[in-house]
Amino acid sequence: MSDRVILSSRTPSPVLVVGSVAYDNIETPKAKGERILGGSASYVSLAASFFAPTRMVGVVGRDFAASDLARLSGRGICLEGLQHDLTGDTFFWAGKYHENYNRRDTTDIRLNVFEHYKPVLPDSYRSTPFVVLGNISPSLQSHVLDQTVGKPFVIADSMDLWMEIARADLLKLLPRVDLFILNDSESEMLTGESNVFLAGPAIQKLGPKLVIIKKGEHGSILFHPEGLHFVPASPVTDLQDPTGAGDSYLGALAGVLAALGDSSHLSLKRAMSYASATASMTVEAFSTTRLESAGVSAIQARHDDLRRMVSH
Ligand code: AMP
Repeated sequence: MSDRVILSSRTPSPVLVVGSVAYDNIETPKAKGERILGGSASYVSLAASFFAPTRMVGVVGRDFAASDLARLSGRGICLEGLQHDLTGDTFFWAGKYHENYNRRDTTDIRLNVFEHYKPVLPDSYRSTPFVVLGNISPSLQSHVLDQTVGKPFVIADSMDLWMEIARADLLKLLPRVDLFILNDSESEMLTGESNVFLAGPAIQKLGPKLVIIKKGEHGSILFHPEGLHFVPASPVTDLQDPTGAGDSYLGALAGVLAALGDSSHLSLKRAMSYASATASMTVEAFSTTRLESAGVSAIQARHDDLRRMVSH
């Protein structure tokens, strides 16, 4: 078992994560990274692994390095649901950040083995109580839910691309989602509301009872029937590569809920602080490097700093 942040005396429930596993080329105003480990499932799973047992579902190609598999299994992530398709290469994505790091352009995308991928849940994964639908097409996200048994707590992410090209599929998925996480520009795109306090309730009307809207370095807001909750971003002065911040937030959030074993208002508030702390680690290095090496005491310390900053 890998080391974990201990949040309660109960045994943490497992988390199932589906998403992309990728090689990324990243260009920031300061530096470049080439063919580095990325993908939504990689960041989500690594972040979740600091809090709860994590099961990963995705696909890699013939070029996927054994050393990268070892990075995932080294954090105790179960890879039984990771398919190896030897007929093609791993999903590839290239992105370039603007001067202020807040915007980025996709400069290349090659679906490769993702093109014909249909996620298959191993039997042992089907009744996992916490399910994270990382960023992949909403029809694949639905296909994963179709294979689950019981009533898992479902947390989903998406992106502007799917709102543009697969809106109907996304609208079909949302009533099956308990907690939907998106950033402020995506919430405006989905609802037409530029005011987040109007966009949040508009998304709740589309299905998910719980919504978190992220506002980059300005923090995140939870829309919950018991009331709003605000969490700031953990301050970062050494920003290297923002890629994966959202996925790390998502993974840590899911991991904390699984560790606590419930999705109450109080547990969600605790989870948001850990999510902010964990995401702030990811952006301090390219790829998942800093996240992998973070260690539970550094995550806990950053979480505690954040709590001190917002209490009297
Ligand atoms: P984030 O910075 O949290 O949006 O996540 C970045 C990760 O998303 C990168 O490592 C990419 O490999 C991955 N990614 C980019 N575009 C897509 C896509 N269309 N589908 C799935 N994953 C993607």
